[in-house]
Amino acid sequence: MRKFSLTLAATAAVALLSTSAYAAGYPERNITMVVPFSAGGPTDTVTRLVAESMSKDLGQQIIVENVGGAGGTLGASQVAKAEADGYTLLLHHIGMATSATLYRKLPYDTLNAFEYVGLVTDVPMTVVAKKDFEAKDLKGLVEYVKANADKVSLANAGIGAASHLCGMLFMSEIKTPLVTVPYKGTGPAMTDLLGGQVDLMCDQTTNTTKQIKGGTIKAYAVTSAKRLAALPDVPTVAEAGLPGLQVGIWHGIYAPKGTPKEVTEKLSASLQKALKDPNIIARFAELGTVPVSDAEATPAGLKTKLESEVTRWKPVIEAAGQYAD
Ligand code: ASP
Repeated sequence: MRKFSLTLAATAAVALLSTSAYAAGYPERNITMVVPFSAGGPTDTVTRLVAESMSKDLGQQIIVENVGGAGGTLGASQVAKAEADGYTLLLHHIGMATSATLYRKLPYDTLNAFEYVGLVTDVPMTVVAKKDFEAKDLKGLVEYVKANADKVSLANAGIGAASHLCGMLFMSEIKTPLVTVPYKGTGPAMTDLLGGQVDLMCDQTTNTTKQIKGGTIKAYAVTSAKRLAALPDVPTVAEAGLPGLQVGIWHGIYAPKGTPKEVTEKLSASLQKALKDPNIIARFAELGTVPVSDAEATPAGLKTKLESEVTRWKPVIEAAGQYAD
């Protein structure tokens, strides 16, 4: 009852004020930014960096909330249902687009349940294995995996995760299904890879660069078109013999449908400033990623990207024939 009246009060507050007056006073309290994966993983890392910088600019704290599970769809669903007042946001990745086809039924309508704030960063992935894994290079990995498919485990963050997409492309490229192990995010999956409980993973450089450089995991390839400055010794998937595994992961910030335009524009302007923060630029470079341009860090930039990525991945996912109910 109390929750109901608070919700009504919040809705009424937005409706009563003109949206520009509302936006002028926004934000007047903490904002929640949902990460649809576990703490300590790559999406979480990007979110915490951006949230810290945007908090300084907006003069209010952005609190990061991890809502992992079901490949990112649980967190997205929570934000789709939240109050459209600018105080609940979502930072998601390419999974926002792939889930639209991977799930026969989603609790939200991907292209109509959100307002857009902007794109954040593009991140390549890396094909990695536990430190003592047999194969020396990607060619050796493919041979080993084909001969031992029933013994090799592949971690992912659930159907709809970037690790799932990359793993799906890997399995379909080498025409060999593997045993997949789903986690609520690749933060905990990395812990198991380091501990040797799982063999392989495909994950963003924002989670793997430090471990690769430290020699605590093995890297076989990066999924970018060119080698990365952060990992100059790791070949690209094309160089290593699997060009079909080229994939770029992108992150974007969303708000529930109906969030005032002036609010999403204010957030977009703050995002653009954050992406020029020298601390973020330096940390992103260490992690093998670069911030997007001002034009992309806008509601229109993210909308265009999401729409084109839903269209791009639909036939690929349909051809792989992998769906979740
Ligand atoms: N890297 C994860 C994925 O596979 C998500 C995460 O934990 O950030 O999508």
